[in-house]
Amino acid sequence: MTRTTEQSGKWEYAPAPESAPIEIADRYGLFIGGEFCDPSSGQWRSSISPANEQVLSDVAEAGADDVNKAIAAARDALPGWAGLSGRERGKYLFRIARRIQERARELAILETMDGGKPIKESRDVDIPLVAHHFFYYAGWADKLEYAFCGRTASPVGVCAQIIPWNFPLLMAAWKIAPALACGNTVVLKPAETTPLTALRLADILQEVGLPPGVVNIVPGGPEAGAALAGSDAIDKLAFTGSTEVGKRLAQIAAKRGIPLTLELGGKSPNILFDDAPIDQAVEGIISGIYFNQGHVCCAGSRVLVQEGIAEEVVSKLEWRMKSLRVGDPLDKNTDIGAINSAEQLARIKHFLEVGPQEGAVLHQVAGDSELPDRGFWCRPCFFTGVQPSHVIAREEIFGPVLAVMTFRTPKEAVERANNTKYGLAAGIWTDKGAKIFNIATKLKAGVVWCNTYNKFDPGSPFGGFKESGFGREGGMQGLRAYVRL
Ligand code: NAD
Repeated sequence: MTRTTEQSGKWEYAPAPESAPIEIADRYGLFIGGEFCDPSSGQWRSSISPANEQVLSDVAEAGADDVNKAIAAARDALPGWAGLSGRERGKYLFRIARRIQERARELAILETMDGGKPIKESRDVDIPLVAHHFFYYAGWADKLEYAFCGRTASPVGVCAQIIPWNFPLLMAAWKIAPALACGNTVVLKPAETTPLTALRLADILQEVGLPPGVVNIVPGGPEAGAALAGSDAIDKLAFTGSTEVGKRLAQIAAKRGIPLTLELGGKSPNILFDDAPIDQAVEGIISGIYFNQGHVCCAGSRVLVQEGIAEEVVSKLEWRMKSLRVGDPLDKNTDIGAINSAEQLARIKHFLEVGPQEGAVLHQVAGDSELPDRGFWCRPCFFTGVQPSHVIAREEIFGPVLAVMTFRTPKEAVERANNTKYGLAAGIWTDKGAKIFNIATKLKAGVVWCNTYNKFDPGSPFGGFKESGFGREGGMQGLRAYVRL
């Protein structure tokens, strides 16, 4: 620390970039049948760092033929994998989890370079949770008879899994670990902007000797996703991503009659009552919306504040925002990294224009540091004067942008919180336990955090109501999507 800035009340730090030279190959192929191979599509897509727009690597783009090849490899591997005892499958999962822990630093750096999230998040949150998910489901692999008492659980078969870019390796772990524990085989399609850690996971799968074809990874864009989801040869579809694409996939799965789980968008309310510990609640708002630049499906993007404390909360929020550091995601002091892509930045900017046009007031006080010339950046901000009918109160922005609204009574808080097409998560801040239980049972949200926000654990199920999707991932409940009973 070198000095304080009176104006912002912020300590200035010397740069502290995470330094660990990691190798990134010029090219990564598809991972099919336990081997890396070139795409028969002949197409490659550059994966760039959103923090400086430099190309990190060229990654194979799976075409329909490649996707079919991967599904065939998963089909071939199915009898052998499903035929292993749960104990043996569990051993593989334990090995994967341990190897992820051993290579955690490398994975965290790669995640940050490819996706733009701050290194302190990928290092302290994403990658440890990835390992924990594999450990957790390794433990279940030989105990399925206890998870489904009195019934026999058999695998569903070949699972197609499509994931987004906001938690690339964590979403892969959420999907792959329970599927393998239950004896299924997998074809995973990572998001087009963040394929690198999934391919590094493929490397780990080779290292631990996972039988070929049990997990296949086919990077690519929407076309690859559509080829995978639309294939007649898959037995189960699991998707995390936008509600718009989720709805399309629901039609496909319904036509074929295959099981489907959907983890979609959100516009989650964070509710502050006037008896809440305000400083703690302001920290909760900050971590609820600015974690991972707001690229979080369950981000607390609507703050509902009881009228009597609204002024105090807004002024504390402004003060706290000034101390947030926006910049190099690899710097250990950075709070807000890069926006994942130029497209996502353009989408966020659109909402920043729409908000004031509708009459809301934009507060953009954060981070007086200069932003790099290249890369995709958005300073964290929030709107006040927001009405429930405003676009910024209804639509998922998926960026570091918060809508602050007020309420008078607990009844009104519940009505406003539930006044959304989504239902993924919610937060409640109050000093009264009874109020927490009363409000939590009335909120239509899959996850309700009380006096905290954005806390995840492999043992807790996660999933939505309404247009946020259906099915649960994580916990014992997360096994259900991957078994036939
Ligand atoms: P997206 O729906 O555009 O893409 C998600 C994935 O689907 C990507 O891999 C993409 O290539 C693929 N895809 C795109 N079009 C497809 C199609 N027609 N058929 C098959 N696959 C297709 O979403 P995004 O912009 O990448 O991610 C942001 C969205 O994901 C947000 O709405 C966010 O809320 C949601 N999300 C939800 C959760 C959750 O757990 N509920 C978690 C993370 C992200």
